[in-house]
Amino acid sequence: MSIFGNSIFGNKAPGVGNGTKNGSTQEAADSGAPVQKSDAQWREELTPEEYHVLRQAGTERPYTGEYWDTHTEGVYQCRACGTELFTSTEKFDSHCGWPSFWAPLAEGKVRYIHDRTLGMERIEVRCAACDSHLGHVFEGEGYGTPTGQRYCINSVSLRLVAKERDSDGSQG
Ligand SMILES: [Zn+2]
Repeated sequence: MSIFGNSIFGNKAPGVGNGTKNGSTQEAADSGAPVQKSDAQWREELTPEEYHVLRQAGTERPYTGEYWDTHTEGVYQCRACGTELFTSTEKFDSHCGWPSFWAPLAEGKVRYIHDRTLGMERIEVRCAACDSHLGHVFEGEGYGTPTGQRYCINSVSLRLVAKERDSDGSQG
């Protein structure tokens, strides 16, 4: 059940393991992600900050992002490709300076990569659709969330689409 228990350390994320063209364990350009764009395209579509975080696995400074303290009801999309990744239902106040969720919107929305940079063992979280960097996921920090996990996500990787109230419900 826990992503830490087996699916990350025991298996590769969906799409990574099959059809491998080479043995590289580096950042795979061939991620199997459905949304594939050239580096030049990403640079054109994203702001420099978005590009740095989403495509270069950067991290925004804590307490500077748009959503770290947001309580608006809605759905958080990937800012790079628009895929719905998280919802306000799973968002909680971690007071860490980044928007934090205890689960993604659904399994398969994000993929996980074992990240050993900076001398730490961390699990990187990427959008499964476009392979853009979102943040990291941590477990066992004592937040008391339903999963015990904290998806620590950069605001700049997300776009909140606020839930419409008293609408005719025509949106899907
Ligand atoms: Zn995406």
